Amino acid sequence: MDFINSSLIENDFRVYAYSHLDEFRRVSKKEIDIYTLKRNKLLKLVKNALKAPMYQEIYSADLKKEIIECNDPVYFENSIFPKLSIIDKKIILDYGIKGSTIPINEFYHYYESSGTTGNPVPAPKTKVDYIWNTTNIGEMWSGFLKKGDVAIILINNPFGPAPYQMEKIMEYIGIMSYRPYVDNLTGRHDRILRLMEETKTNVYIGPPSGLMELFEYANRNNLPKPRLDKFLLLGEQSGMSFLNRLEQLTGGWGSVGSYGSSETSTITATCKDKKLHVFENSQYLELLKENNIVKPKDGGSGELIVTTLDFLSKPLIRYNTGDLVDFDFSKCPCGCELPTLQTLGRSIDVINFGRKGINQEMIEEILWSDDFIDPIIFNYIVLLKDDDIFIFITTSESPSEEWSNRLNNRLKTLMRSENILVKVVGKLPPLNSLGGYIRWKLSRVLDLNEQKNWLKLPEPLKEMVYASFEQLNKELIKL
Ligand SMILES: [Zn+2]
Repeated sequence: MDFINSSLIENDFRVYAYSHLDEFRRVSKKEIDIYTLKRNKLLKLVKNALKAPMYQEIYSADLKKEIIECNDPVYFENSIFPKLSIIDKKIILDYGIKGSTIPINEFYHYYESSGTTGNPVPAPKTKVDYIWNTTNIGEMWSGFLKKGDVAIILINNPFGPAPYQMEKIMEYIGIMSYRPYVDNLTGRHDRILRLMEETKTNVYIGPPSGLMELFEYANRNNLPKPRLDKFLLLGEQSGMSFLNRLEQLTGGWGSVGSYGSSETSTITATCKDKKLHVFENSQYLELLKENNIVKPKDGGSGELIVTTLDFLSKPLIRYNTGDLVDFDFSKCPCGCELPTLQTLGRSIDVINFGRKGINQEMIEEILWSDDFIDPIIFNYIVLLKDDDIFIFITTSESPSEEWSNRLNNRLKTLMRSENILVKVVGKLPPLNSLGGYIRWKLSRVLDLNEQKNWLKLPEPLKEMVYASFEQLNKELIKL
């Protein structure tokens, strides 16, 4: 509220901000019919999208005529919308800024998706885009973030909108925040740890790998470890065992903060009960399931197709995110009536070890279990070579022989193989800190049998992968 009334928002935007806030609050209490709201927004959005050269080109003349002439939202949703083609990242990449309905200089900020494994996708924002997105998340996070909290926003992505967007949300809730940057050149975290100490930072917002790196760095350099009351994880798919480990390390409460992307804006945000509520007021969602497109109510889980209802300047219509999600329409204890969604990651993130049906999640469940907390395991990387599996770990102290044998045996039982060796190292190879770029899971498994797969990565990522190969090879020679 303070945010809406502050000088940060000009008068004409304030009217929009209040109406969006009112809409969100009514929707989350089921005071207005969400289906009517969505249907009305959908027709308006698609009509407006015809101003963008991209949609002018990809929709046929007949279809465009039908869209222009239609004034019945129910008919549109049921009979015209299903005819609109599904778009993917390649299409929005090919068309780039031509997917916008306004000229580039009418945007407020220019951003791009991270795009480390290909060209980035434009993701510019208008002032209005910040207002609806900020309000949606701000209202949800107000359930557990309070005045007096101090938040660090640690997102090393200067091209993407996330750090600035997070800052706006903190302003909305009315809490102090700062967004420093980890120096990639030196990899030093001293300054960040000092700032956290001096400002009594009690909230962390950023990727889980970044938080873990802070702990590893503090431990390695005998610096005070951060203590947090709350942390919100963004950007990397991580499992429950990782979240639990971070809760142990920080002494605080943690949740996956939100889910979305630079292109789609935010689709869901967590409530105090750690459930990701879907912003149905701003997103029209469908599921791709066995080649059929279904509504979430009838589907449950599938690949998520997004239409961004409030994103008028750069409309995204039936965009296939490639993310697997699972909807839940049961009532959440927090009281918010919006359905919740669980992200199941992307199929490319799932790495199965050999023929045994063992995935990374199962390895993490052992590494980060309560059975191995003295010393604790911070982080790991798996190296596959022929039929051998090497697991390199960092720990808070050197473990005893009994501890190491116990861990080895647990992993051997899981994998039903004798060819496993766990080794404690002082520092993990550079690849390990690239979770934000090449995804958390992929940055933790290095398959020496498929080195050619890494050739696809651009520099300097490729170089860092090779440095990792070298470091690990040296470790292997010592074994
Ligand atoms: Zn909830």
